[in-house]
Amino acid sequence: MNSGNSIRRIFEEKRPLFSVEFFPPKNEEGGKRMIRTAAALQPYKPDFVSITYGAGGGTRETTMRYATILKEEHGFEVMPHLTCVGHSTYELMEILEGFAEAGFRNVMALRGDPPQGENEFRVTEGGFRYASDLVALIRENFPDFGIGVGGYPEKHPEAPDFETDMTNLKTKIDAGADFITTQLFFDNQAYFRFVENCKNAGIQIPILPGLLPALSLGQVQRFCKMCEAYLPAKLEESLQDSPTENHPDIGAKWALNQVSELLQENCPGFHLYALNKPESTLAILEGLSRNP
Ligand SMILES: Cc1cc2nc3c(=O)[nH]c(=O)nc-3n(C[C@H](O)[C@H](O)[C@H](O)COP(=O)(O)OP(=O)(O)OC[C@H]3O[C@@H](n4cnc5c(N)ncnc54)[C@H](O)[C@@H]3O)c2cc1C
Repeated sequence: MNSGNSIRRIFEEKRPLFSVEFFPPKNEEGGKRMIRTAAALQPYKPDFVSITYGAGGGTRETTMRYATILKEEHGFEVMPHLTCVGHSTYELMEILEGFAEAGFRNVMALRGDPPQGENEFRVTEGGFRYASDLVALIRENFPDFGIGVGGYPEKHPEAPDFETDMTNLKTKIDAGADFITTQLFFDNQAYFRFVENCKNAGIQIPILPGLLPALSLGQVQRFCKMCEAYLPAKLEESLQDSPTENHPDIGAKWALNQVSELLQENCPGFHLYALNKPESTLAILEGLSRNP
């Protein structure tokens, strides 16, 4: 079993980099689709891939199982996500020790969303209220780990205002995070403003823009509602005008334009929310290789 590299080092050595996000599949069929996607992306050599951690702490085993497959069978540098939801500090330590034993050297540290059916985050007994607490735990006990955290260009929905959200983000960074991956956004101006505000707040770590190649109008409207992200009218209209329900080509084209502009502005790379499907991600990577 090989031990991986800290993403902190990858950022120091290579720019721009690109990463892809998977989620733990719900059943064997979904697992096969995820593995087919991983195999299709392998030749493009993502600098790292991440795999999310499901609501309520319910995907502990699946996240670990598929993170191991991505690492051992596809040779990816894998960053499993971990959330505070439903876990005591003792359990979080157990999971982190499991990550270290399996050779992972990076974690995306998150608070997590409330489990389905609940609309407010509740602290588990003996657990944490904020992602910054989890970052501090990891930094103290696994000093060599690369730690990613979430950032919100259009503000975290629960935060009362941008300024408070930025102060809270700074606390998370000061606890020991190495880089930020952003929530999805469809208008690059939101990212540019966020980077500027981070700079003014004294945040100096890399800020990786997270992009979702939209699949359908319904999907993108759902995501934008959930994350309170702005949906540009032009993207909405193109999705609306399309004769079929799913049209990955439109979403991929929009995301490709976003990536191209972001790279022109020297952002440290890009992160694609691939949702375990290869088509859009491949279209973006192919598009970039034609117009680097
Ligand atoms: C890149 C990325 C990956 C994600 N992956 C997953 C995943 O795998 N699984 C999953 O369930 N969810 C995931 N999420 C969603 C995430 O869990 C939710 O957005 C969640 O609501 C907030 O998590 P956080 O880590 O940003 O929390 P925090 O950083 O703790 O922030 C949560 C809220 O608390 C506020 N806050 C933070 N610190 C303080 C403080 N000290 N005092 C007062 N207020 C404070 C913040 O302003 C914010 O409003 C991801 C999000 C992103 C951006």
